[in-house]
Amino acid sequence: MVVLVSPEDEAELNYAVVNFGKKSPSSDVINIQQNTNAPELEEEPSYVFIGSKLPSSGVTDAMEHAKARKTQEDVIKICKQHRKLLIISIIAAIILLTVIIAVTIGRNQSECCPEDWKIFNHSCYYFSLMGYNWSEAKEQCEKNQSTLVMIKSSKEQDFLNKTVRNGTDEYWIGLTDANHEGDWKWVNGESCKCTETNRLYWYDKEPDNWSASGSIVDEDCAIIKQDGGWSDTKCIDRQKWICEKLMSIC
Ligand code: CA
Repeated sequence: MVVLVSPEDEAELNYAVVNFGKKSPSSDVINIQQNTNAPELEEEPSYVFIGSKLPSSGVTDAMEHAKARKTQEDVIKICKQHRKLLIISIIAAIILLTVIIAVTIGRNQSECCPEDWKIFNHSCYYFSLMGYNWSEAKEQCEKNQSTLVMIKSSKEQDFLNKTVRNGTDEYWIGLTDANHEGDWKWVNGESCKCTETNRLYWYDKEPDNWSASGSIVDEDCAIIKQDGGWSDTKCIDRQKWICEKLMSIC
């Protein structure tokens, strides 16, 4: 093997012939011969290193330096890999911990209704024990973050029907045509569309907007009776009422 190196003063170019033992590892140097003239090579050199500032006497040091540099690069590479794995592990741990906390909180949280409210299909229903007029009943529901009941499905109607069936009371529901006669709307402003072909649960001949002879008070508010049928009646009457709201986390 031939190594070409330059002297410190760069005045002339030195050559060093480095021989390696055949049975030894390739990095083992047996002897070094330095010449100021290029050697006549009998065979092609295995490797040739050319440096601009490496002293001719430092061939072995250069090789050791190269080995040390390679070792250092390997260490840096391994450190980077470990750092990357550490970052990935930390992120994975944070995600896993977040999921565990979310699941734990979810298990500990459940929906419920206030005491004395009945539960149906993720909603809470309050059946009052005393009577108010329709507007006062509406306000009582709103004070409890609820509305007068709005019956939007046959299942909900069946639930209410079963609850009031055996009683003797009638209850306000959240349905009125006070703003425009015959245009029945729920308390959230939605049209009921329940007076023509789709009468829903009105009794026969109801709503009739009945009023006594000579009276200016007609019937603009709806009630649900003991058998589940609907009827309009005077809003100033005193009736029990039904409030409704969604179940909440408790
Ligand atoms: Ca009416």
